[in-house]
Amino acid sequence: MSMDTPLTRVLGPKTAKVMADQLSLHTVRDLLRHYPRRYAQRGEMTRLDGLEVGDRVTVLAQVKKVSTRPMRQRRGMLTEVTVGDGAGSMRLVFFNSRHARLDVGAWGLFAGTVGKWQGDLQFSHPDCHLMSGDDDGDWARALVPIYPASKDVSSWVIQKSVKLLLDDPRSLEQALDDPIPAAVRQRHGLVGLATALRYKHRPESTEQVDEADERLKWDEALVLQATLAARRRAAALEPGIARPRRSGGLLDAVDAALPFSLTDGQRAVGDELAAELAREQPMNRLLQGEVGSGKTVVALRAMAQVVDAGGQAALLAPTEVLAAQHARSLAAVLGPLGRAGELDGDPAGTRVVLLTGSQKAAVRREARAAVADGSAGIVVGTHALLQEGVEFADLGLVVVDEQHRFGVEQRDALRAKGNRPPHVLVMTATPIPRTVAMTVYGDLETSTLRQLPAGRGGVSSSVVPAGEKPTWLDRAWARVREEVAAGRQAYVVCPRIGDLEDGGKGDDGPDGEDGAPPSEKGGSDRRPPLAVLDVAEALRAGPLSALRVEVLHGRMPPEEKEARMRAFAAAEVDVLVATTVVEVGVDVPNATVMVVMDADRFGVSQLHQLRGRVARGKHPGLCLLVSEVPSSSATGQRLASVAATTDGFQLARLDLETRREGDVLGAAQSGRRSGVRLLSLLDDEQLIAEARVEATALVEQGRGLADHPELAAAVAAMSLDERADYLEKA
Ligand code: ADP
Ligand code: MG
Repeated sequence: MSMDTPLTRVLGPKTAKVMADQLSLHTVRDLLRHYPRRYAQRGEMTRLDGLEVGDRVTVLAQVKKVSTRPMRQRRGMLTEVTVGDGAGSMRLVFFNSRHARLDVGAWGLFAGTVGKWQGDLQFSHPDCHLMSGDDDGDWARALVPIYPASKDVSSWVIQKSVKLLLDDPRSLEQALDDPIPAAVRQRHGLVGLATALRYKHRPESTEQVDEADERLKWDEALVLQATLAARRRAAALEPGIARPRRSGGLLDAVDAALPFSLTDGQRAVGDELAAELAREQPMNRLLQGEVGSGKTVVALRAMAQVVDAGGQAALLAPTEVLAAQHARSLAAVLGPLGRAGELDGDPAGTRVVLLTGSQKAAVRREARAAVADGSAGIVVGTHALLQEGVEFADLGLVVVDEQHRFGVEQRDALRAKGNRPPHVLVMTATPIPRTVAMTVYGDLETSTLRQLPAGRGGVSSSVVPAGEKPTWLDRAWARVREEVAAGRQAYVVCPRIGDLEDGGKGDDGPDGEDGAPPSEKGGSDRRPPLAVLDVAEALRAGPLSALRVEVLHGRMPPEEKEARMRAFAAAEVDVLVATTVVEVGVDVPNATVMVVMDADRFGVSQLHQLRGRVARGKHPGLCLLVSEVPSSSATGQRLASVAATTDGFQLARLDLETRREGDVLGAAQSGRRSGVRLLSLLDDEQLIAEARVEATALVEQGRGLADHPELAAAVAAMSLDERADYLEKA
């Protein structure tokens, strides 16, 4: 027997088939890693009074009464059994059952789905195990494992099957290659894998369960961190090209053109980047920072250094609006230096080109040509940059803006466009918790900008409970009118665009939007989310009739979007009613009010991002979170927390608590597919950090993973689609 032995060779064919069909358990490994969801204490299991119709449960009870009689409607016999546990009782029914030999007074374990008939709770054809004979010890144990079960595979069947595997100690020890090296186990006081699995599946005490959990979490963390460390090492071993700083070039020109002085943080991170770019070993760095902390200028300076050293820099943005904005503002900062080759251009400079999917073929062809011949030193684009046919003359630096919309594979696709591996700088939109940095972005080194530029007006935020206090909404629109009267501008963000084929989904950009946290979705009795087109209409007809109100959303043609954004930036529009297309990166310092309609439909980080759109200038900003949910509800309190703090790190943690962790690590099924079942990004920070240290040492010392074949095998096992899932964008 090995971990990869199919269950068909170990279990009965019928059991193996339903396990495969209904629980996706195919191999010995799958079954051994199908951990109990919880453990029933004996007393707890017998509580028949707490059952509800529809529960799929296992109960421990005593047979009180058995009666068998012919059925009225059909041929055959009906056996009714009443069982009780002192707290309650229920009925079991069996039709024409041969095996229902249940004697009054016997104790048994009964598993099934609770139904109701004539007012009484019942199981029909439950899975039974009578407490008699050899294996009593098994289910009479203090802690009975309760497994995630399915229609035809009860917790009990799983328990019996796991027992089959665990009971043959010789073949189990053989089957199990412990991926955690003995020295690591010893340092951290971890039990061996076989012991851990025994403790997890057949514990004799809760202490054993705890020991098993600690050890099995280490498995998950160490394998993941070893995968990431191997990735970092592989990246470090492949030499890139050094792009040292040169004076008198683009970078100096950029610095001279900046209308402000850099913050200390920007300067420190800038030095760090400059030093790494000057090395041959490719930089792989994550720049995370508070919304509005000025990440873009840090990236621009790195790009300028690379151009000065003769390379090209690509800036990958998540939406066309943002790509266009970046291209525009880079061109503005560079002036003639960004128009080399044009009539008024400075020959010492370079060209900034924009490459997006929606450009006309001729425009795109011209942009591609400039990228290929190297005349474009700075290339800004969306996913279109990743496409085949986009060839760089000498790609030296890849900057990925607002990384949460990109996956590892996309980063790799762009990286592959260099002749030699380019330097990579990834920027997150909002701060992320340390555990997320160590896992989802774990193959990158991290820099952090905590400080906002001085002289910011700051934002104040309030929840507008439109359900409880309808007049507050009138007041909100009055505030918008006041700000516009004072020369400022406002955003109104809605969750949906709003026409026929919209299907309740918002926007935007090539990747779609994150949407509300999963727990907030659905709820069929709720009204549909407010829509941009409807809200704009209502505002024009009502409270904002005197103002210039325009809409912006992802289904507008790109040139129109671009023109609308430009008009807003030029203050030709007072109020922009938009989807989350303005969520990331959009920078119009004169905008001071952000009204988020149906704010409960957005995630915490999204709201923080949206609010970041109005904290960008010297004027104080105002963020109004409009929602009809009761302020006392969990969602209402979440909104109150967003309003109460502007600390992005704190909110990132709240976001993590709100979203299911599986969504952070990948697909909904991530528990199974990513190999993460027990590890928690909320609770296991220290364990993850320790595993990272150990994994890095294992990978970098001696012959690396080759010295640890068991760990290498576990890494390889999760390397294919699983690793991709695990590391998929948050
Ligand atoms: P984010 O980090 O959220 O991407 P941006 O890079 O868009 O933030 O910067 C936000 C705003 O702050 C921009 O308008 C930018 O020009 C401005 N800014 C950046 N750095 C400074 C600074 N050191 N002093 C003043 N304003 C700055
Ligand atoms: Mg930004």
